[in-house]
Amino acid sequence: MTDTRIPVAILGATGAVGQTFIRCLRAHPWFRIAELGASERSVGKRYAEAAHWLEGDLDPDVAAIVVAPCDPTRVTSPVIFCGLDAATASEVEPAFARAGRFVFSNAKTFRMDADVPLMIPEVNADHMALIARQRRERGWSGAIVTNANCSSTTAAVAMAPLHERFGIKTAFAATLQAVSGAGYPGVASLDILGNIIPYIGEEEPKIEREIQKMLGKVSGEAIAPAAFVVSAHANRVPVEHGHTVCLSLGFEDAPTPEQAIKVLAEWRGAPAVRGLPFAPEPPIRVRSEPDRPQPRRDVMEGRGMTTVVGRVRADTVLDLRLVAMSHNTIRGAAGGSILNAELMVSTGEIPRRPS
Ligand code: NAP
Repeated sequence: MTDTRIPVAILGATGAVGQTFIRCLRAHPWFRIAELGASERSVGKRYAEAAHWLEGDLDPDVAAIVVAPCDPTRVTSPVIFCGLDAATASEVEPAFARAGRFVFSNAKTFRMDADVPLMIPEVNADHMALIARQRRERGWSGAIVTNANCSSTTAAVAMAPLHERFGIKTAFAATLQAVSGAGYPGVASLDILGNIIPYIGEEEPKIEREIQKMLGKVSGEAIAPAAFVVSAHANRVPVEHGHTVCLSLGFEDAPTPEQAIKVLAEWRGAPAVRGLPFAPEPPIRVRSEPDRPQPRRDVMEGRGMTTVVGRVRADTVLDLRLVAMSHNTIRGAAGGSILNAELMVSTGEIPRRPS
């Protein structure tokens, strides 16, 4: 039987995010892994030789794929999932978009550009409106759609329903970020075992700006950023997967903890996202135990796509505080990109293949 799924390429396929794409796309109903790209170090090798595979079994079909260079004349799939570092992405991603491909980026390079959507579909599916402007202004037949920094994603999902209902004025965010957020091999074990590193390069300004863009409103073909201010503290902790964010929030119209819990638990996000293969149901799970969420216990909630929120309580400085946690390489990277691509298939922006 002919496989009518859309062929996709994963660039940066050997890295932490690239490997998560491979795991998440296993048996995907709409997308088929056709090509894998990485650096010169890996090009020409079978994937199984090029990658230091980290988790679970590697599908033999994927293991046998010969790694290609990240070049649109050598990689032909219409959908490109990227797990590239920022410097590589700055050259590679526009080259693919210019060549008519739909590029789903995890790098910081284009996130804050005025014509590039920074998407979490449940939160801001309408930000896709920027794509028409991007194509017109850059002369591209393809497009770049970005994902946020993984901690920004954790915080933004938890803040979105509260902002929508009560209007956030001020946000304080302290992160506890897993080691897989630094890629592979990432942070040296002697630096992180039994330790906390209270610094992650460039992380705090990214969190402060990206949340404002993601929770901003579409106005024509531009985004008016959310008007609240964010203060972020970023910390690396000895956890394998799962970024935790402790949030204190001030509001225009302050909710009680009970009102906030109800809004968070009932929130389902943009209707356009419901029923998509990678959409978690519900997008937020609120836990009532006093010691949750915990990465070890909660990180795979909703196949790693659900944001787990707990400890929703009154704050002594602002109005409300809570703890949010989600999987950094799934919800915060590969799974988020896959959901963005599914949204574009469901709206017809990415054509399906005839069956
Ligand atoms: P990583 O583990 O270091 O992987 C980097 C990948 O890029 C590898 O496949 C590497 O291939 C490839 N690469 C490096 N230089 C290249 C070049 N010149 N040309 C082509 N490919 C090249 O990094 P990661 O953690 O997966 O992160 C990837 C991106 O996602 C980064 O921009 C990061 O900021 C972002 N991100 C990461 C997370 C996370 O939780 N890890 C979350 C959100 C966003 P070789 O193996 O061949 O060198």
